Amino acid sequence: MIEAQALSKSYGDFKALDDVSFSVGAGEIVGLLGHNGAGKTTTLKILTGFLQPDGGSIHIGGVNSVDVIENPQAAQAMIGYLPENAPVYSELSVQDYLSMVSDVRGLPNKLEAIREAVIATALQDRLTTPIAQLSKGYRQRVGIAQAILHKPQLLILDEPTVGLDPSQLIEIRNLIKRLSEHSTILFSTHILPEVEALCDRAIILMNGKVRSDAQLDVLAGTSSALLVLEDDVIGAAEVLRNITGVDSVERVAQTSVRDAANQVAYRMTAFPNVDINPQLFAVAKEQNWPLRELRYETQTLETVFNQLSQGQ
Ligand code: ATP
Repeated sequence: MIEAQALSKSYGDFKALDDVSFSVGAGEIVGLLGHNGAGKTTTLKILTGFLQPDGGSIHIGGVNSVDVIENPQAAQAMIGYLPENAPVYSELSVQDYLSMVSDVRGLPNKLEAIREAVIATALQDRLTTPIAQLSKGYRQRVGIAQAILHKPQLLILDEPTVGLDPSQLIEIRNLIKRLSEHSTILFSTHILPEVEALCDRAIILMNGKVRSDAQLDVLAGTSSALLVLEDDVIGAAEVLRNITGVDSVERVAQTSVRDAANQVAYRMTAFPNVDINPQLFAVAKEQNWPLRELRYETQTLETVFNQLSQGQ
């Protein structure tokens, strides 16, 4: 449904996106996770054709996919988009706003489209209320209602749950889950539990780069280990990389230990459902490494996110 290849975008000298590639399959619900300023909004604006990238390509749709850069209007007809601060016309009532959006989209069965969007977002009792007088949770529902008026195959939601209280948050989560029965969904957030509650898959964006792209159930079956050596050992990373079941080896900063001047730390991740721990210990012993610490960790979205954040 989405094929994004090597997207880049700079604002002046600042590189907001750097070689961002990912794909989203039909029917998936995917979370784009990242700290504030990671580049989430920039990515979503590019995907929806509202911002031109400096480089890269995006195709939306299945077999007869549309090139978003060449044909943004055709792509926008397939996409429902909730921007970061929607809806903006706060003096309008809910029904006048949805009517205006329907006109802009040129929907043939406008009244039916509005009726269905209002029912889907449970806005029946707020139709004549000016948007300015709605709670944040209701405003988000209006934003989502305008995004689904034309029954899009793909919904792109920018921070749909930001600023909501716990009960509004659960309502919007449930709404997104219901909508995912009919649309592919990509949404951005900086809140880990949002992704865990809603998604099959998470793409982690940091400093404008994709740092991780994994199915959550695969992550849950994956472990990692931290190995700390008292001194640098030449070739250690290569030996670790050759251990069966080790997927990746990264030299990481070791900031938690005092007097760690000479210490060197490596983080290994394992392929899913493989236990690398016994092998790691055996190799460290066999190689007679000055082992300071060997710590096993089960991977969750949180540990991956934290590890990547520390790596930054
Ligand atoms: P947030 O959650 O805070 O909205 P984000 O992950 O959506 O963050 P972006 O809004 O895409 O991040 O911004 C990425 C980086 O680009 C930030 O450092 C931001 O300050 C910068 N940026 C975004 N838009 C512009 C702009 N129009 N001009 C200059 N810099 C910009």
